[in-house]
Amino acid sequence: MMAPVRVARQDEMRRFDAIVIGGGLVGTAIGYGLARTGRLVALIDEGDVAYRASRGNFGLVWVQTKGLGAPHYQRWTRASAAAWPLFADELEERTGIKLGHEQNGGVQLCLSDAELAKRHAMMQQMQVEAGNFGFEYRMLDHAELAAMLPGLGPTVAGASWTPYDGHVNSLLLFHALHKAFAAAGGTYLPDSTVTAAVAAPGDFRIDVRDETLGAPQIVLAAGLGNAALAPLFGLNAPVHPQRGQILVTERTSRTWPIPLGSIRQTPEGSILLGSSEEEVGFDTSQKPEIMRAIARRAVLSFPWLAELQIVRAWAALRVMPPDGLPIYDESEQFPGAFTANCHSGVTLAASHAKLFAPMVAAGALDPMLAPFSARRFDVSAAA
Ligand SMILES: Cc1cc2nc3c(=O)[nH]c(=O)nc-3n(C[C@H](O)[C@H](O)[C@H](O)COP(=O)(O)OP(=O)(O)OC[C@H]3O[C@@H](n4cnc5c(N)ncnc54)[C@H](O)[C@@H]3O)c2cc1C
Repeated sequence: MMAPVRVARQDEMRRFDAIVIGGGLVGTAIGYGLARTGRLVALIDEGDVAYRASRGNFGLVWVQTKGLGAPHYQRWTRASAAAWPLFADELEERTGIKLGHEQNGGVQLCLSDAELAKRHAMMQQMQVEAGNFGFEYRMLDHAELAAMLPGLGPTVAGASWTPYDGHVNSLLLFHALHKAFAAAGGTYLPDSTVTAAVAAPGDFRIDVRDETLGAPQIVLAAGLGNAALAPLFGLNAPVHPQRGQILVTERTSRTWPIPLGSIRQTPEGSILLGSSEEEVGFDTSQKPEIMRAIARRAVLSFPWLAELQIVRAWAALRVMPPDGLPIYDESEQFPGAFTANCHSGVTLAASHAKLFAPMVAAGALDPMLAPFSARRFDVSAAA
């Protein structure tokens, strides 16, 4: 149960321009985005106490499945994908860490004619919904795909392709964001779980590690922790966990020029197979039947994968809003308090650092983010 806490006297308090709660990919991207503009930022993080989404994801910068029926999400994702190449260059330059970022398009395989027809209809619909903004895609039949992806299985019906997609080593991205944040003057405070706060418009105080921190702005980016934190700041972030399992093969020679929606080969040669979507609460255990299903689909797609050893596997929890779309908000009750929640924090890292953080620094979210407000859930609850 969260409750307000005793607040230290003003002269005991360490002050920042902004406090970001949550040192995962979302919070660190926003913290870095704020710090790079010269703001004094504290990044408060619970620490490595659980298998967090930011340490267990698939590493795709992925556009083509995002935003059916929600063109604002397609535009936001595309903005991030478009910003990614310069963002990666900037992080590499500032930290010396090579991210393994490649963005030359991607394909989503369909194993049957029915899957292919469904995907084609989805891509057509997304293009219609994109309107003048445009949405470039192509459907590839088996022959075209086989020419592009060596070793394709005979039962693969085809695929969709878009030029926007790519992938990255997301652990190196995570490392680089933390390093760039620190280099830009940011203060990282790990092992600090925020359980209480005092909020007033433009004045936020939290107690961590025997001291009180204060700032006129606060950003809640604590992943699944946001659900409990948001009400303290007049916000709503009803996110829930969705488990995903991933398998990794031993390294083999580089085979495919681009990533696939559920199979990707790293520049070093490992092949990642994934990832499931399971509604099982806060359970991070691995399930052999799910792992078998992932492996079976991969081997149907590329039979030669059966020869490779699986060398690693894990499960991690996505940060899932009720309708799968991100939640971005500023508190009406306590202006200066913001929240950011999403299940594609790799893809959206560039948007968070280069678009969202500057909005926070400017003091208000851009109207383009209005459809992402959690107020949309009030409307659907009242309907
Ligand atoms: C299996 C899987 C595959 C995925 N694949 C992709 C992909 O291919 N592409 C993509 O774009 N995205 C992918 N994602 C999603 C992506 O990993 C997440 O969107 C992203 O990591 C979410 O980051 P986050 O910072 O919101 O959450 P987290 O990584 O959970 O980080 C939240 C942080 O907040 C801290 N925290 C929580 N509560 C508190 C508190 N009260 N006080 C202080 N700190 C607190 C936690 O300790 C943690 O460090 C995948 C996720 C999974 C699980």
